[in-house]
Amino acid sequence: METNELLSTLEFSAVAENERSRIIKSVTGECKKYVVSALYNDFDGYIYAFDLNEDGLTLSYCFYEFMLKYKAELERLNYYSWAKFLEKVNQDNLVVRVIEKLELATPRRSDLSIYREILRKEFEDNTCFYCGRKLTNNIHVDHFIPWSFVKDDKLWNFVLSCPTCNERKNNRVPSKEYLFHINERNKILQKSQEVVILSDFENYTDGLLDSIWEYAKRSGIKEFR
Ligand SMILES: [Zn+2]
Repeated sequence: METNELLSTLEFSAVAENERSRIIKSVTGECKKYVVSALYNDFDGYIYAFDLNEDGLTLSYCFYEFMLKYKAELERLNYYSWAKFLEKVNQDNLVVRVIEKLELATPRRSDLSIYREILRKEFEDNTCFYCGRKLTNNIHVDHFIPWSFVKDDKLWNFVLSCPTCNERKNNRVPSKEYLFHINERNKILQKSQEVVILSDFENYTDGLLDSIWEYAKRSGIKEFR
């Protein structure tokens, strides 16, 4: 197995952009060669379709539903397998806190200010999504379904919030009443002509947030009222 000196001392997210894309490109190449078609055959083509000239797979609809439903469990299984693999290829003392590292491995967009501006521009009333109070200068952008469950930054999951509500909500799922409001809000946003908004709504469908909300609650995420 090849080892990379650079990666043995550095966090992947701290690697320079060009080096990171080189690594991603080489891993993608290896996956195209050894993984994509082999896994496809293992599951008799049931899970996804692929085209090796294109980057990306197309998940079958029922498998997508399955993944959405068992997201938390699949994620834990995935971490378990990773930890097991890393235990095999590393010395024992290197595996310490490996789960925490894996959980942090999905890059989180650090700057959400672009979403704050879009939402402020679209809804000029500038109030907190949760308590309705007027927002002053400290305006938070909140992941409606916690980031820990969605692992993605998309406009349809963002609301503006006052610091108090954001802190109070923490890692919880808002109650059904709020779900109704964000669905209504997203209907308005979808009518926008702005390219940046439309691209975030590309794979959004009515009912998407409802099912994610349902599954997040089922997987044990507490409710925020
Ligand atoms: Zn508030």
